[in-house]
Amino acid sequence: MSTPTWVAAVNLVAAVCFILALKGLSSPRTARRGNLLGALGAAVATIALFLSGIELQRVGIIVAAVLLGSVVGAVAARRVRMTQMPQLVALLNGVGGGAAGLVAIAEWLRTPDLGGLALLATVLTILIGWVSFTGSLVTFLKLQELMTTRPVVLPAGRIITIVVAAGAVLAAAWMVAAPSGAALAALAALAAVLGVLFVLPVGGADVPIVISLLNAFTGLSVAASGLVLDNVLLLVAGTLVGASGTLLTRMMATAMGRPLASTLFGAFTATPAAGSTTAAAADRPVRSASPDDVAVMLGYARKVILVPGYGLAVAQAQHILRELADLLSARGTEVMYAIHPVAGRMPGHMNVLLAEADVPYDQLREMEAVNPEFGTADIALVVGANDVVNPAARDDRTAPIYGMPILAVDTAQQVVFLKRSMRPGFSGIDNALLFDPRTQLLFGDAKTSLAKVVSAVSAL
Ligand code: NDP
Repeated sequence: MSTPTWVAAVNLVAAVCFILALKGLSSPRTARRGNLLGALGAAVATIALFLSGIELQRVGIIVAAVLLGSVVGAVAARRVRMTQMPQLVALLNGVGGGAAGLVAIAEWLRTPDLGGLALLATVLTILIGWVSFTGSLVTFLKLQELMTTRPVVLPAGRIITIVVAAGAVLAAAWMVAAPSGAALAALAALAAVLGVLFVLPVGGADVPIVISLLNAFTGLSVAASGLVLDNVLLLVAGTLVGASGTLLTRMMATAMGRPLASTLFGAFTATPAAGSTTAAAADRPVRSASPDDVAVMLGYARKVILVPGYGLAVAQAQHILRELADLLSARGTEVMYAIHPVAGRMPGHMNVLLAEADVPYDQLREMEAVNPEFGTADIALVVGANDVVNPAARDDRTAPIYGMPILAVDTAQQVVFLKRSMRPGFSGIDNALLFDPRTQLLFGDAKTSLAKVVSAVSAL
């Protein structure tokens, strides 16, 4: 039975919702509305399918799966901490790719005499969907720190990857030329292994770019499954995700000043990372400061640049940081926030956090705009950031973050770090700036430290 006209109309409305959702997500002010619109579009399209009169089989299983998925999704989304959002995104992305891959397998098993474009789309869906599924799972393990966050380079890793990739393409060709269960199994298995091999060598600063790329892959596999199932809505939604994911990947790679190829395959050519020198670092002297010391420095500074990072999100210190900024501004100090494109654990993380604290937009400065300002700043106050200010990215060819543009904090007159210990950031490497004679460290949770600094500044 073909799709009734009213269902096609509802699907069109859902597609418009998806487009408006993407538009809404482009700004923190409208992101919540955009998200709701997207969810509404998906819900309306699902309900319309049930009411359409199209003959559905095993409705009980479908309803149970929808209910189970909704409960797991809602509980996970409510429980997840803001700082764990990228892991959740990676997992959801993987589930999307895996689902598209499974649907394509089921569709072929149901109608093994598929041919032409439909067969090609099925094969593509399985290939991309499974790469995306296992790749996203490895990304999740890295972000959750259940495995090392550093690049993992297997012996002869590049050759193994090329062989597996070639094998997956051959299996796809075999499946198109002479569809069979064996070809299907080979294709799915090789694609799954390829996903793992693809993500293992990516580490440190490059993980966010890979999340975005896998997201684009999932979009493509969903679009291809739209072709398989003759479903326009899947085609539209998948194309939107694929296109926006591709654009985001390009923009992130550009913001990081790295060609995408070096992000994905750089680990194969780089000299092994020098390794964390944390043990050695523990013995090196650093200059620690008290909240009162920091308050005096800030209270008499003309220009202060605040550098938020992942630790700000962990400590949920955005509100108290804004309080400090307001206090300093009221004393006549020039204050601005320096935003690095991959500070935190997701694209736009710092913008979202600071928007939550109603930080005025005119105080936010992107990396290119703020870097020349550090040279004339009296103090750079680094709140829970590390990798994004680590000069090793500029100076140390062996560092896993080498090549990532950094905030030029080391050109400020004085630097103050707020962190809890001498532990390194996400990339796992030490930061020479912590030992610089111009640097002072205020140890402790950022929120607690900032509260003490705020009350000391108020008392000046
Ligand atoms: P880092 O992970 O480099 O450093 C965070 C720092 O915060 C650490 O030095 C840590 O030190 C400190 N910290 C943690 N908790 C607290 C707390 N409660 N109070 C005070 N300090 C705290 O963060 P950056 O933002 O500098 O860099 C982001 C890194 O994450 C980059 O390598 C980036 O590539 C990567 N990444 C980014 C993603 C994105 O999309 N933005 C996604 C995935 C990875 P200590 O433990 O001593 O307190």
